[in-house]
Amino acid sequence: MARLGSWIESHPEGIYVRPADAWIDPSQPKPRALVTHGHSDHARGGHGAVLATAETLAIMEVRCGPQSGQPLAYDESMRVGEVDVRFVPAGHVLGSAQIVLEHKNERVVVSGDYKRRPDPTCPCFVPVPCDIFITEATFGLPVFRHPDTGSEIDRLLHRLHSDPSRCVLVGAYALGKAQRIITELRARGHHDPIYFHGAIERLNQLYESFGVELGELRPATGATKAEMVGHVVIAPPGALNDRWSRRLPDPVTAMASGWMRIRQRARQRNVELPLIISDHADWDELTMTIRELEPTEVWITHGREEALKHWCMTHQIKACELNLVGYEDEDD
Ligand SMILES: [Zn+2]
Ligand SMILES: [Zn+2]
Repeated sequence: MARLGSWIESHPEGIYVRPADAWIDPSQPKPRALVTHGHSDHARGGHGAVLATAETLAIMEVRCGPQSGQPLAYDESMRVGEVDVRFVPAGHVLGSAQIVLEHKNERVVVSGDYKRRPDPTCPCFVPVPCDIFITEATFGLPVFRHPDTGSEIDRLLHRLHSDPSRCVLVGAYALGKAQRIITELRARGHHDPIYFHGAIERLNQLYESFGVELGELRPATGATKAEMVGHVVIAPPGALNDRWSRRLPDPVTAMASGWMRIRQRARQRNVELPLIISDHADWDELTMTIRELEPTEVWITHGREEALKHWCMTHQIKACELNLVGYEDEDD
C-alpha cells in the first residue's frame, strides 16, 4: 500500500497537490494556486489562476492587483483534477480558510494560519477530522500561552483613561490585527472615534464592505494633536518608531502581537504597553486541535516545529516537518 498522503508533495516553495495539479500558498508564481488567506507570505501575486474565498480574493486584489480568481465559499466543494477541494473557516483573519483535500479515500486538511479563540471579524475555526493534518506552528512552544483577549483590551483601555493628556498608539498588522483590535475595543464598550494610519484605510474599507462594523474611524493624517488627545490610534508596526508618530500627542506606544510575550521583542520596538493578542494558535490551541482531530499524521509547515513534533510523538502520532521557505509571521 502506498504511503499516506503520497499524492501530496512538499517543495521549498509550497505544497503541491499532484492529482489536482495545484499549489497551496506557493511563494512563487504558479499556473494554479489554492490560497488559504490574504497575508502576503501566503498570498503572492502572479499566479495563473487562484482559488480562494471571495474575501481572500478581494484582499489579494487590494494588495497585488487584479487576479484571475475563482471564489469558493466556505463549505462549498469543488472538484479540481481528481481531488475534492473544500474551504472551511480557520478563524485567522477575514476570509481565512483551511483547505480540505479528499482523494482516494484519504482526507488531508491544510490549516494555513489559524487560531481557536473567537474573533469578531471572522467565523471560528471549524475542526475537520482527517488522516493528515498539515499545521502551522508559529507559536509551537509551551512558553507561548496567549492570555484572554478581553483582559488585554481592558489593559489598553485602562492605560488610555489613566493618561488623559496622551493618546495610545497601537501597532497592529494592517491586515486582520488592526481591524480585530478595533472590533474588540467596540465589544468592550469603547465607542469613541479611533484614529488610523493611512496604510490601513483600504483594508478597513474592505472589512466594512464584507459586513464587519468598525464604528467611527478617523484618519490621523490631517488631525491635530489636540483632537487625538485621549484617543486610540492604530498604525502598522513599522510606523511606531518612525517620523509619522511625531504628529501624535505624547503617545503611549503599544503593540498587539503574540510576540509581545517576549520582553526583548517589546524592548526592541520601544513598546511601553505590550499587548499579547495573536491571530495564531498558542501552544494549548495547537495541541488541543491535534487531540480533537485525531489525525494519523501531522505535518508541520512553519514556525517552531521541534516541540510540536515531539509532543505528537509522545502522543503516538506520526509527525514530520516540511521545509517550506518564505513564511514569516513576525508581526502576527
Ligand atoms: Zn497569516
Ligand atoms: Zn503564516
